[in-house]
Amino acid sequence: SARLLPFVTKTVWEEFTPLAKSTGAVNLGQGFPDWAAPDFVKEAMVNAVTIRNDNQYTRSAGHPSLVQKLARLYSGWLGRAVDWESEVTVTVGATEALFALTQSLLGAEDEAVILEPSFDIYAAQITMAGAASVRVPLRLVEGAGPGGAAGWKLDPAELEAALTPKSRLLILNTPHNPTGKVFTREELESIARIVRAHPRLVVLCDEVYEHLTYDGAEHVRLASLPGMWDRCVTVSSSGKTFSVTGWKVGWVVGPRPLVRSVMTANAWVQFSVPTPTQSAIAEALAKADSPYQGFPSFYHFLRAQYRGKRDRLVRALRRAGMRPIVPSAGFFIMAQTAGSTVPDKYMAQSTPSCPKMTRDWALARHLTIDHGVACIPPSAFYCAENKPLASSLLRFAFCKTDSELAKAAVRLAAIG
Ligand code: PMP
Ligand code: GLN
Repeated sequence: SARLLPFVTKTVWEEFTPLAKSTGAVNLGQGFPDWAAPDFVKEAMVNAVTIRNDNQYTRSAGHPSLVQKLARLYSGWLGRAVDWESEVTVTVGATEALFALTQSLLGAEDEAVILEPSFDIYAAQITMAGAASVRVPLRLVEGAGPGGAAGWKLDPAELEAALTPKSRLLILNTPHNPTGKVFTREELESIARIVRAHPRLVVLCDEVYEHLTYDGAEHVRLASLPGMWDRCVTVSSSGKTFSVTGWKVGWVVGPRPLVRSVMTANAWVQFSVPTPTQSAIAEALAKADSPYQGFPSFYHFLRAQYRGKRDRLVRALRRAGMRPIVPSAGFFIMAQTAGSTVPDKYMAQSTPSCPKMTRDWALARHLTIDHGVACIPPSAFYCAENKPLASSLLRFAFCKTDSELAKAAVRLAAIG
């Protein structure tokens, strides 16, 4: 419609996913696992639609089996009794949770703070809610930690300076896409101190990569810190954890008034989230703590798999002459590309998602088209004026089978 037209620009995903397909490139662009979901997860879906016959509408606020399971999990994680009926609700992936929250919380007078780089949907959704985005940078301080990605630092003074009486929302994504940074307890405590001093501010904690942490990095939930329960809404999703990004089961956990607003929006938007997928995820969550393929739990197995894939891709990127900033979490690697050559031809082109060509975008297209390895230009995660900050960076996904990663390694080696 005409009202929505200003938001209907082509996304980076709409450019690079089809480009990878049409060129036959190994797709290390969009973050989705390319392997089959685990058997116990697939069986959970079969059980949902056959044995449990969970095939009709369920409550708008979420299938009881799923919200009850989530309430038990978060009660343990957050150290408080979370009420399944009023403090948890289910959404169509984390994406729609974010949409319901930005729509409920923000209006034309409000400002929402996002850290930069940040997942591209935040800024688009803030704009769709009619509010203004305020950017605070994560700055890469080299050598700041053994994990590499720990070197992405938020300066609390810069966050404090960005807040005004109009600030209504802060979006905090940990573990972080695209950097793979895990905010430490100390960093979260300094954010909590600032939040306490700004009573109007709500923090939206996007924790979709919560189970994918490596090298002992600890995922700390801001909502578990003193005084933070009432100030945070925690959003997560089953897509990454169970390798089923297409199932789109997400959720929101938080204080009643904030969860209530999501429930109300959702009852009028989709009425209910598909029942079979919710029922299946409830079963998958119930089974995930059991020993799995020689590991104490499915989560241990998952982390070990991903860590191996991360290390494989780190080696391949180094051989291609890039400098990967080793992530502590998630399934993306940001790599520094200052030494790579970008053909003039690509700098001279423009695309619907990048009308004013940037170096990272041109290099991503060159790697995809001429070297058969697709990646994502991180300028998609910066606002127009800060896109130059991404000029020497590229994002590569390692949520791919070992044979695809090996294929990518051969192709990358030809560059180096
Ligand atoms: N938040 C972040 C940080 C993401 O990377 C993604 C994309 N996978 C989402 C939210 C969206 O999650 P979902 O697929 O559950 O909508
Ligand atoms: N979160 C995934 C990524 O960052 C997928 C994004 C999407 O499909 N919107 O690659």
